[in-house]
Parts: sequence; C-alpha cells; structure tokens
Amino acid sequence: MDFKRINEKLEILADAAKYDVSCSSSGSNRKNTNKGLGNSSGMGICHSYTEDGRCVSLLKILLTNHCIFDCAYCVTRKSNDIKRAAFKVQEVVDLTINFYRRNYIEGLFLSSGIFKNADYTMERLIAVAKKLRQEEYFNGYIHLKSIPGASDELMREAGLYADRLSVNIEIPTEKGLKLLAPEKNRKDFIKPMEKVKNEIIQYKNEKKLLKKVPIYAPAGQSTQMIVGASGETDAEIMYTSAYFYKSFNLKRVYYSGYVPISNDSRLPTIGSAVPILRENRLYQTDWLLRFYGFDVRELLNKEHPNLESDIDPKLSWALRNLDQFPIDVNKADMRMLLRVPGLGLKSVNKIIKARRYRKLNWENLKSIGASLNRAKYFIVCDSSTFETKDRTSAQLKSIILSNSSSKFSATLSNQLSLFDNQNTLSA
Ligand code: SF4
Repeated sequence: MDFKRINEKLEILADAAKYDVSCSSSGSNRKNTNKGLGNSSGMGICHSYTEDGRCVSLLKILLTNHCIFDCAYCVTRKSNDIKRAAFKVQEVVDLTINFYRRNYIEGLFLSSGIFKNADYTMERLIAVAKKLRQEEYFNGYIHLKSIPGASDELMREAGLYADRLSVNIEIPTEKGLKLLAPEKNRKDFIKPMEKVKNEIIQYKNEKKLLKKVPIYAPAGQSTQMIVGASGETDAEIMYTSAYFYKSFNLKRVYYSGYVPISNDSRLPTIGSAVPILRENRLYQTDWLLRFYGFDVRELLNKEHPNLESDIDPKLSWALRNLDQFPIDVNKADMRMLLRVPGLGLKSVNKIIKARRYRKLNWENLKSIGASLNRAKYFIVCDSSTFETKDRTSAQLKSIILSNSSSKFSATLSNQLSLFDNQNTLSA
C-alpha cells in the first residue's frame, strides 16, 4: 500500500466530507454476529461531537471528490479548482478496518461526488459496504449516502449492508435548486427516498413472517438541507422538512448553515458569517415538530415567515399566544404542558407522575428541573404568586431576555440579516 498517497487522499476526501452534517449514528441496533468486528448496538457506538455539534466518531470521507455536476454551493463542484482524489473500494475497506482496530472510529460515513453517473457511483459505495460486511465481518455502523438518480435495484441493495441511508435534499426550495444546481431535479432525490421507505416497510413486514429475512437499513433514512444559500425563509425550510418527515418516514432532517466558499453572485459572499444561530433555531423548531406536538403552521406562517433570533421558537409561540396562558400545572394536559417555555419533555413527564401524589408548588417544580426563569410567567401552581400579571408579550420578552444569557448572544446582531448559508456535498 502506498501510505503516502493514501494519506494524501485521506486529507483531501475527509476535508471535502466535512460539510455534510448528517452523520448521527443513532437508531441502529446491529448486533455483533459470527465473532465479527464491531457492534453498532448500545455501547458499541460512541457518539462524539465537536464543539459545533458535528459528529466525529465515524470515519467520514468521500469516495471521490470528482464530480460531473456543478452545484454552486458545493466545494466539490466540477468548476472548482481544487485537488481531486478518489479512493479505490479496497482502500476504504482497509482504512475502515484499520481505524476501527485502533479505536479511532466506530463506523463509516461514506459519501461521494458523482463520477460517470449515479449508478456507477452508487455501485462503488455499495461495494465498500458489502466487502466490509461480507469479507471483513464488520458489524460497526455504516452510513451510506444515496446518489440521486440511482436505480431502484441499487437502492434496495444498499439498505442490505448500510445501517442508514441518506440522500440530501440540499436546497430547501425547488426554485433555489433550479438557481444553484440547474442540472439537478427534485424528483431525483425523491425517488430513492421513496424506494428506501417502501423497502423498510416491506422488509419489516416480511421479517414478521420469516425470521431469516435480513434487516434493511435499521437506522432508517435521513436528509440534509443547506440553510441560507438561496435566500429561503425559515418557513420554507421547515415546511419542506415537515413534508419529508411525513412522506418518507425520515429519522432526521439535518440543517447545515451555508459556508461561503465561492465567488458567485447567486450566493452569499465569501467572508459572510455561517448562520450557526439560525441553524440552531431550526433544530429547535424541528424538535418541537417531532416531540412537542406542534404543527409547523403554528410556528411559522405568512405573518411569521422567520424564526426570532433572540428567543427560542417555543417562547416565541407562547408570547404570541398569551391568551392560552397561564395554565395550571396541576391540571393541564400533557399537550399544553409541553407548550410551556422552560418545560422540557423530561420535566413534563416528571410533573405528570409527581402530581398524582401531591399538588406541585414552585419548590417542587424547581427540584423537578423546570426552568422557572421562563416557565413561571406561563403557569400557576400550588402557590399564590402568579408571574404574568397584566404584562404584554413585549414586556415579558424583555424581562425574560434580561434574566437570561444566551451562548449565541455574541452572534445575535449580525446573523439573521445575512443571506444565510452553507454548503454540502452529497451528491
Ligand atoms: S452537491 Fe453532490 S452532485 Fe452537486 S457538485 Fe457537490 S458532490 Fe457533485
């Protein structure tokens, strides 16, 4: 093996992969079998994240950064004058096994630029996963990117070896995609997603009847959207998310702030800030949709097409709906408790359990873990003090903000005004 050349490739292809944030390994339950290598279930996968939330426990690389497409937002685009490289299938297999044995990684996240065509590229991604599973008996986590436009047959095969599959939507709106990646078509993303969704359902049903039926993509599928490259509103982003969650049973949608990488009049200029705060607010909104029972139209609509930068989306909703508060924590149903700013899922579950035995007061709520610096303005409990008295939402917002310190406060001033951001690669 030419270690120098492999090192060089690794440097280029790991660097090119860093823009893809959709590498969470949650949700898989692949057991170690036949004395194989690795185990993606339970303790077998250690999630490790960098300070900005990106996962680092997987070997995260591109198979190649050659690409026949020219998506304006992508560092791998064919018109970009960068060093190019391509791994051979066996090289990725060897790297994965070597890194795994050295405890550097827990699994593999493999994406690629598109070389020749979608099927040709997809075949090679599958070949890596197949070799790892069948020749190296590797039971660690494998996340493969699906290449838009790959055939149904290849998508079916990919899910037999990968824990998770994902195809990146990239640009949240069709008009944005047309502007920045005119060679691409939204249908090419949807087709593989549809296929994966159907295969997951079919394999699950067959497994109920026949034990020997293999597990298909046990960690499901995910996608990623670039935020801020095409001037879209937060409403457009989250409506797209809600549609994809519902239509394709996605496990996760990842939001990746555009990192300005090219001098292109269609994009934010180089040097513009990466919209980390906006990314964070979108994740919070995503959470509210998936776990807190909110409908996207409650949080974002014609009157409120963008999230507020200085407060989280739940507080923002509550301040616009003060007529629904205060609620009595000793009587309210779970749906309303989940809507109280400062009460998270854990706290709400604890409240529901605890109030079976006693009426809860401020002290009880504090020990349960409720963030009373926000919650106290929206609830009443077994106490005579009620904090919202005759205050307008603007007054409440000001009080709450003056009593809180945001880790994002330094970036608040300049972020949302920007033509927000980021790039991904992903084929
Ligand atoms: S986004 Fe994918 S298809 Fe487009 S240039 Fe980048 S790697 Fe190629």
